[in-house]
Amino acid sequence: MALLEVSSLSVSYGRVAALADVSLTVREGEIVTVLGANGAGKSTLLKAILGAVPVKGGGITFADIDLTRAAPHKRMAQGLVLVPEGRRILISLTVEENLLLGAHMRTDTGAVRGEMNAIYDRFSNLAERRHMPASCLSGGEQQMLAIGRAMMARPRLMMLDEPSLGLSPLFVSKLFDLIRELNAGGLSVLLVEQNTGKALKVAHAATVLELGRVTMAGEPAALAADPRLQAAYLGGG
Ligand code: ATP
Repeated sequence: MALLEVSSLSVSYGRVAALADVSLTVREGEIVTVLGANGAGKSTLLKAILGAVPVKGGGITFADIDLTRAAPHKRMAQGLVLVPEGRRILISLTVEENLLLGAHMRTDTGAVRGEMNAIYDRFSNLAERRHMPASCLSGGEQQMLAIGRAMMARPRLMMLDEPSLGLSPLFVSKLFDLIRELNAGGLSVLLVEQNTGKALKVAHAATVLELGRVTMAGEPAALAADPRLQAAYLGGG
């Protein structure tokens, strides 16, 4: 079943067309990756799905609800969450305060505590530093905190904007393991990545954006074997 349906979406910043006629589907339980060069419109797509930038044309349906013009908090209440590029952790707040921020829309405070403990079980580095400012975490640990914070909202679809950017190879591996694990637990994922090879390995479907338009879409294995994609993003020729 389609969880997220983006159809013929257009977004402009003034006279700059950032997205034109973009369509994409995320089915329940899938990881879908969006690839493309800098400036292709990937972040704009995630922002439009979250409602952070206005849509000029087309539609966004999530769990059969038309959210094209809904306010961001309404979308979040439906189970959409974004882990933004650069993580946007509040470094002067403690690890725990950052996690609690992710749960600010929830009223089931008892369950919130239980989930926080589950996150601490998963990330011992966060548990050990729960009362320390987030500034004491490494970049990789901050990315785990950003994902933990997003999990606290109990999302149905997690959107990740270039989560591997700036991470050490060890943390990149850990990050992709985590994405796989969360997905195996039932979470659907929309993953924007510049690490094309790893993203295609983890994803069930892939879409390539160029200058705001979809130029390729389909099965990751087929895209990985496509000479155009190899030349542009996989270092092949
Ligand atoms: P990156 O990997 O660099 O983040 P991207 O694929 O996410 O790139 P976007 O950030 O979505 O691309 O940008 C798409 C286009 O829209 C680019 O031409 C960019 O310059 C332009 N753009 C993005 N944000 C704005 C803005 N706030 N105002 C004007 N133009 C913008």
